[in-house]
Amino acid sequence: MRLLVTGGAGFIGSALIRHLLATTDWRIDNLDKLTYAATPEALAACEGDTRYRLYRGDIADAAFVRQVIAEAQPDAIMHLAAESHVDRSIDGPAPFITTNILGTFHLLEAALAYWRSLPPERAAFFRFLHVSTDEVFGSLGPDGLFTEATSYDPSSPYSASKASADHLVRAWHRTYGLPVLLTNCSNNYGPFQFPEKLIPLTIIKALSGENLPVYGTGANARDWLHVEDHARALSLVLTNGKPGACYNIGGAAERRNIEVVRAICTLLDEMAPRAAGACHDTLIEFVADRPGHDARYAMDAAKIRAELGWRPSFSFEMGLRATVEWYLAHRDWWQAILGGRYDGGRLGLKGEGP
Ligand code: NAD
Repeated sequence: MRLLVTGGAGFIGSALIRHLLATTDWRIDNLDKLTYAATPEALAACEGDTRYRLYRGDIADAAFVRQVIAEAQPDAIMHLAAESHVDRSIDGPAPFITTNILGTFHLLEAALAYWRSLPPERAAFFRFLHVSTDEVFGSLGPDGLFTEATSYDPSSPYSASKASADHLVRAWHRTYGLPVLLTNCSNNYGPFQFPEKLIPLTIIKALSGENLPVYGTGANARDWLHVEDHARALSLVLTNGKPGACYNIGGAAERRNIEVVRAICTLLDEMAPRAAGACHDTLIEFVADRPGHDARYAMDAAKIRAELGWRPSFSFEMGLRATVEWYLAHRDWWQAILGGRYDGGRLGLKGEGP
């Protein structure tokens, strides 16, 4: 099996590649632009593996994408490359449109031409798995869950760009017959997550004794999934999913943002106590809300459980504890980022009204 992963140097892509190299004998090529969000260190252990290769480049470069596919000759493509941070999409949507929409289009075109050129037995085996988010569904009211049949209603430039890409992927299946699979997953957390996202940002700010920004009242709720559970789910969907089908992936761990931040504070009170025994939650600071902030996401993952037998192995409490331990043990990694690519400052306020 030869697999081409896009965005494999990112948070989820690198967890996926580590998982697949450890559990299969597949050869894995990684097409990644290595943007600010990439964490090549997360693949350090794979560098010496002859089954792994990195192609550095842009999925929005059609000629480059065609060349990589021709060279890699994949049996499957798992597409994770994206601009992924909602707040950055508010400040500057352009790269989200280019990478998430145009990049997906170029990848689909190249995949289609390649798939059509394959001999019948390889063409029958080929899959294109597109990795998407629960954010495409918009905001839920106080009750209910997103299912695979929920209508799309994205709120942010990020989720709108992912929704556009999802529609393209479905269209390439319905119109051209490309054997696609589509997954929509809830918020991930775990090792090597870039410190702009809620959980790592809260951990590192708390360790530095800085205020812990919580948007609005902190009542916005998300479902949380450990990244290694996501990697296992993606691998199962690729090998056992039905072409043309979508699968929701979620951790059955809905938490309000303020609950997540308080849980991190409690863990740090135990693992990295502050001087004079002050509790970390005294650092919590409620700040201006994110423009267009969706109130609530929650996933119904019954389909992937029933059809593919997947369920999360981490409880949120267990996964969060392991994640806090990981950030404590890998200060060098995130301190280098804070010293250069991202200073921990507030992003995403450009969408505020006059
Ligand atoms: P990430 O930002 O950590 O990594 C994205 C990777 O894509 C980086 O390595 C980056 O260098 C690469 N990339 C960006 N633009 C590129 C381009 N034009 N060409 C080639 N490579 C490019 O993102 P992530 O959190 O690992 O998310 C991976 C995928 O999963 C994304 O498609 C995202 O929408 C989706 N997703 C993420 C979450 C989450 O909670 N993080 C949840 C559901 C779905």
